[in-house]
Amino acid sequence: MEDRFGRIINYLRVSVTDRCNLRCRYCMPSDGVKLLGHGDILSFEEIAEVVRCAVGLGVRKVRLTGGEPLVRRGIVGLVEMISQIGGIEDFGLTTNGILLADYAKPLADAGLGRVNVSVDTFDADRYEAVTRGGDIGQVVRGIEAALDAGLGPVKINCVVGDFSTKTDIESVRRFGEEHGLKMRTIRLMDFEKGSFSVVEGGSGGDCGRCNRLRLSSEGKIRPCLFSDISLSVRKLGTEKAIREAVLLKPECGGPCEHDWMHGIGG
Ligand code: SAM
Ligand code: SF4
Repeated sequence: MEDRFGRIINYLRVSVTDRCNLRCRYCMPSDGVKLLGHGDILSFEEIAEVVRCAVGLGVRKVRLTGGEPLVRRGIVGLVEMISQIGGIEDFGLTTNGILLADYAKPLADAGLGRVNVSVDTFDADRYEAVTRGGDIGQVVRGIEAALDAGLGPVKINCVVGDFSTKTDIESVRRFGEEHGLKMRTIRLMDFEKGSFSVVEGGSGGDCGRCNRLRLSSEGKIRPCLFSDISLSVRKLGTEKAIREAVLLKPECGGPCEHDWMHGIGG
């Protein structure tokens, strides 16, 4: 699919849940979030249908995200359903890694290609502080399990902002070097201000080359992370929602009303 600005749209990021087992300071408000009801969340059949339709329209890259994708019950079954859709060249999942030690092998067996793991520091106390309670030991075991299961290349997503210390970033760099992992640094984004920048070592944040659509857990196709435009697959039907989202994809992102990442899928 080509949009109005000549960009080829071939990447779909799918948020499978708005729930998470962490509360990262920049992503979730401390007093929790209003969660969607179970009936509001797309079923696995609905998600697979959107992916199938998107692939039919030219999508070649699919990534599962959230919230935390591994907290959605039955996630391995969804991976299996999607991996059976012919035409996907790159099938990945972005996770905080907390549950990855148990899930890596089943996910690989179900057909997942690779994982990105989000870690902003490998210092145990700092990790606990930034995520409001996370245990970095679980993440390290998760990354090792992913490597053992063949879910490579494993990439580390590291958010850098005014909360980060030099030691945080250094600890991620060192872990990456020791384990031969690619590291991508993501500048802290601010949705209300519309401030974001190009992801260092990755492909996000570069509007002129953006090839993405997003599917939120309640079934809205979003053509841009920094825009409030969304098209409901349940209301419009899948193909129409996807085609309209491509037509409405803005040339560049800007300030928007939603102000947290967890509901949309980073
Ligand atoms: N829970 C999974 C995880 O943490 O990898 C997947 C969802 S999370 C929303 C996806 C990515 O968005 C993570 O790498 C996270 O660090 C990033 N993120 C969340 N809020 C952000 C913000 N305000 N600015 C930049 N990145 C953000
Ligand atoms: Fe959860 Fe990921 Fe958001 Fe952290 S960044 S609160 S792990 S969804």
